[in-house]
Amino acid sequence: MADRPRISIGSVHFSPDRFIVVAGPCAVESPEQIRAAGEVIQDEGVAVFRGGAFKARTSPYAFQGLGLEGLRLLSEEAHRIGIPVVSEVLSQRDIEPMLPFVDAFQVGSRNMDNTALLKELSEIRTPIILKRGFAATIKEWVLAAEYLLLGGNDQVVLCERGIRTFSDTTRFTLDLAGAVHARRDSGLPVLVDPSHATGDPSLILPMASAALAAGLDGIMVETHPDPSAALSDGHQALSPDQFRTLMKHLRLLAPVLDRSL
Ligand code: PEP
Ligand code: MN
Repeated sequence: MADRPRISIGSVHFSPDRFIVVAGPCAVESPEQIRAAGEVIQDEGVAVFRGGAFKARTSPYAFQGLGLEGLRLLSEEAHRIGIPVVSEVLSQRDIEPMLPFVDAFQVGSRNMDNTALLKELSEIRTPIILKRGFAATIKEWVLAAEYLLLGGNDQVVLCERGIRTFSDTTRFTLDLAGAVHARRDSGLPVLVDPSHATGDPSLILPMASAALAAGLDGIMVETHPDPSAALSDGHQALSPDQFRTLMKHLRLLAPVLDRSL
């Protein structure tokens, strides 16, 4: 494992004694929605604000995101709160127009092995959160990260978001052991996304706690001001109250493990 430079998203620095919470709605939907989401985020001391503006939906009939206008709303709200922003990039042609609005690009599970996109992203210096393809082995995931590193972008963070298995109890299967493995193999920080991995708000707190206890670098979690009205992934979004409970729990647990949020 090579020595790695410090990895930061805006002013947020990854380090073994920190547990970084990336949170926000699945998608940016409206000025009102993103403002309400931002208020919850701000009160809870979240490190990085997330929100999808370009959405990779399973159905072409589903909400596809607000595009650059959504990104502008997300970035304005993040500035108001004073935290950095991550949003998913779906295609090479969106990189440049997105650049002024994001502190990190997310590469989604469906694009983990889109090598043309990875090569383009390797040429910029903006950090990348690389989600694991839901049918990718650890080796394939780490090799995808190497496309970014090899091209010169050393600001890479991995994110385990669940893989597809025979189990249909949860939306995907959270591969926590694989996440620890990937962290060790690659020397890169690894986040866990318990929202997509479980698809179940009641499983997010236990899986986030497990990620913290396992020494992983943080979580990416979806929260919506009104999950029942969400335009995407509402079934798995934490309500503001559930999100506050999660954060309270992590704040209590972290110091026991010599870590801080
Ligand atoms: C998301 O973070 O909203 C998302 C689409 O995630 P994934 O690529 O892991 O499905
Ligand atoms: Mn989502």
